Amino acid sequence: MVLDLNTSLREFPGVGPARAEKLARLGLETAGDLLEYYPRDYEDRRRSSTIRSAPEDAPVCIRAMVAQPPRLNRVRRGLELVKARAVDATGVLEITWFNQGYLQNAIREGEEYIFFGRAEGHGGRRRMTNPVVQREGEETVTGCILPVYPLTAGISNNLMVKLCRRAAEACADKLPETLPRRVRQEHQLAAVEYACRQAHFPDSFQTLEVARRRLVFEELFYLAVGLDLLRGRRTDRPGWRMEPCEVEEYQKLLPFPLTDSQRQVMEEIAGDMTGGRPMNRLVQGDVGSGKTAVAGYAAYLCAQNGGQTALMVPTELLAEQHFRSLSALLAPAGVRLALLTGSLRPAEKEKLHRTMAAGEVDLVVGTHALLSQGVSFPRLGLVVADEQHRFGVEQRALLAGKGSLDQAGPPPHVLVMSATPIPRTLALIVYGDLDVSAIRQLPPGRRPVETYLIGEDKRARMYNFVRKLAGEGRQVYIVCPAVEEGEGEGPPLKAATEYAGELQRKVFPDLTVGCVHGKMKPRDKEAVMTAFARGELQVLVSTTVIEVGVDVPNAALMVVENAERFGLSQLHQLRGRVGRGSHQSYCVLLTQNTSPDTLARLRVLTATTDGFRIAEEDLRLRGPGDFFGARQHGLPQLKVASLAGDVRLLREAQDAAREVLAEDPGLSRPEHRPVLERVKRLFAENPDIFN
Ligand code: ADP
Ligand code: MG
Repeated sequence: MVLDLNTSLREFPGVGPARAEKLARLGLETAGDLLEYYPRDYEDRRRSSTIRSAPEDAPVCIRAMVAQPPRLNRVRRGLELVKARAVDATGVLEITWFNQGYLQNAIREGEEYIFFGRAEGHGGRRRMTNPVVQREGEETVTGCILPVYPLTAGISNNLMVKLCRRAAEACADKLPETLPRRVRQEHQLAAVEYACRQAHFPDSFQTLEVARRRLVFEELFYLAVGLDLLRGRRTDRPGWRMEPCEVEEYQKLLPFPLTDSQRQVMEEIAGDMTGGRPMNRLVQGDVGSGKTAVAGYAAYLCAQNGGQTALMVPTELLAEQHFRSLSALLAPAGVRLALLTGSLRPAEKEKLHRTMAAGEVDLVVGTHALLSQGVSFPRLGLVVADEQHRFGVEQRALLAGKGSLDQAGPPPHVLVMSATPIPRTLALIVYGDLDVSAIRQLPPGRRPVETYLIGEDKRARMYNFVRKLAGEGRQVYIVCPAVEEGEGEGPPLKAATEYAGELQRKVFPDLTVGCVHGKMKPRDKEAVMTAFARGELQVLVSTTVIEVGVDVPNAALMVVENAERFGLSQLHQLRGRVGRGSHQSYCVLLTQNTSPDTLARLRVLTATTDGFRIAEEDLRLRGPGDFFGARQHGLPQLKVASLAGDVRLLREAQDAAREVLAEDPGLSRPEHRPVLERVKRLFAENPDIFN
């Protein structure tokens, strides 16, 4: 049978309907799918030895003859042993296999096999347990670097090796080369066929590295091209060159002295906005580092120049909070502010739309409602997106388009603010076109949040602590991972609603306990949050809906149930909800989990409050997949590249992508067609970005 890339796996020998279905669960339906299904690891099975000279501590291949018929011994139900004795010129090898009864008949006396395993004992008498066994001339699983594939129930690694080997032999040479020749030459990348063969069945770890380099580069290259297209970057477009406005002048409006870090970031922003190119800047800063004041400065500078600012935040509550604090700062200086949220009545909304369109508003704070039809800014000079990770790249672009759609003027300046410090590598991908500033300093007088990791045995003490703080007038957050009992697997999770009821009845009858979770209607949710913000609730039980920048300075304790369920960055975010006032604040992480890895991971939080360090650690431990909801960003899943490890290659790939796009922005040249196809496939979940 002639195989090609589209041949269904059902046509492969050894693949019946049941197996085909299991393979499909791994996303494998055709020979081509197999070729792109890369091993997750490799096992070096190349080393071979005689029985006598085999090392005791590392597995090796030993060629030996079976000297007696193998014996099967049923020790008890569920435990079968097959024992065999093999010999070579140097010694004897006693072999035991557990629960592989079929080997009794598969292994024949007087024949030679290769056994791969660790030879215990020493000298000429050795033992091996559960070695891999292979007859001469059979499908090779010894004497090579064996690929180890990600598997699923019913699909063994041996089967995968067999299928991939067959696919590679039959059609690796039919893989289309999609990387432009120039890019391959310039960056010294292996050809696709070679890379594919070596990635599955490497001749050596050197050739594997060559293959991996090509595949990682390729993946990052298409990602970079896609993101560049997505952003519709036009670096050569002129921006609105604004007149400078001294930070000192803005300082006069503030009730506190700016930190050096805030000042420095403001200078960077001023440089952008007065520089003649559109600003595209990300400001990262831990919770409480004072990003709002920084955004206020940018809006102030913009207003001084007669421009309008749109500040977009993810929730109504945040919008109100920002509106209040920015009004206090800027209204006295003559800046006209407005609040635009989805809950405005239609008449109010229409009126606001009209005043905005008439240019009678300088700064609009709002939610997604800012993106809706009918909202227009005739003199949009600045777009600020706060807590950016809740917005996709497209939304940012959409908002920025609000100005330039309505007028022929320059595109607005864009400022993105994030309280999730993002490791450098990830920022390069997600915000590849942004300049990055960091506020690494907190305003003076803040005491770091004291953080404890405790087990179930200290729950009673934790409750006492809650009561003590409440007695001192403080408020407490208790965060649970799930809403309904029995949701998910693993240990019983504290379900917010039931848990809140129980706490109120049995543990804190004397305190007021509220509850908020993601499945509530936005209006109800906001009502509870507002009550908490006003101090009407002492304990707020919640799911992670409070993660995003709510400011309740009186909250001094954050308790996280089932802490092992959360990523480090997420826990750090949660912890940032407390310690915003002048009171010493605390964070208590509860877990029933006792795995050393989990505990070590959670201990990172007790050891540092530096969000950047925590983010790096999080990325290292968990990868970028669910770092902050990659899906929300429209970021495709990467197959081979690791954003934690492949920084240099990432830069190279981004440069290459930029070069190609600079020459051929629409990728319309024949040699770039395949690039466009690949990018479209990569971003298949996001098809509208290419219109
Ligand atoms: P972020 O958005 O970065 O989490 P905010 O902008 O909400 O932080 O600021 C947190 C609190 O710190 C606010 O109450 C704000 O008024 C205050 N603040 C900001 N900058 C300073 C400063 N330089 N000195 C003292 N307090 C500050
Ligand atoms: Mg904020």
